[in-house]
Amino acid sequence: MRLKSIKLAGFKSFVDPTTVPFPNNLTAIVGPNGCGKSNVIDAVRWVMGESSARYLRGESMADVIFNGSTTRKPVGQASIELIFDNQDGTLAGEYGRYAEIAVRRQVSREGKSDYYLNGSKCRRKDITDIFLGTGLGPRSYAIIEQGMISRLIEARPEELRNYIEEAAGISRYKERRKETETR
Ligand code: ATP
Ligand code: MG
Repeated sequence: MRLKSIKLAGFKSFVDPTTVPFPNNLTAIVGPNGCGKSNVIDAVRWVMGESSARYLRGESMADVIFNGSTTRKPVGQASIELIFDNQDGTLAGEYGRYAEIAVRRQVSREGKSDYYLNGSKCRRKDITDIFLGTGLGPRSYAIIEQGMISRLIEARPEELRNYIEEAAGISRYKERRKETETR
């Protein structure tokens, strides 16, 4: 599985529809302070279902929507789409047969979030389910941000265990067991 591109529209500083391509296995995003580099990472975490504004460096969820600048009016909604190459079949289950998987999240100022998988409306859970055990999730280790290394070093054993279980591919089974037990 590989992230091929991100389409942003109305998200934080990306007011106009913008596509950020990731053509190779290694891509660097460079630019001056405040140009929006970290916003691209926030976008990935947001689509994966992050529901805490604080983790997206904002105060409320509406802070992900472009809120205007000296020359532009605020917009009413934000949308992000991640395009994944799934030719190796990492994303299994119902979506395993697709060579390309598009995951989209859209939110309006009223706070309603909609999620889509390959264009079809789905639940947040459908997205977290297919990515469980791949290392990519709203809080997963596929994104190593500033301060995360020290957080890992200082983590409590139970917290550290969650990361190891995700890497070992166990987390998806644990999640299913939890669901069965609560039914
Ligand atoms: P640094 O190099 O300092 O880490 P960066 O390139 O990572 O900078 P970001 O933190 O991604 O920069 O972007 C910050 C910019 O995004 C700021 O200019 C801020 O005004 C803008 N921004 C954040 N949220 C919104 C929003 N909702 N509407 C408009 N602009 C926003
Ligand atoms: Mg930054």
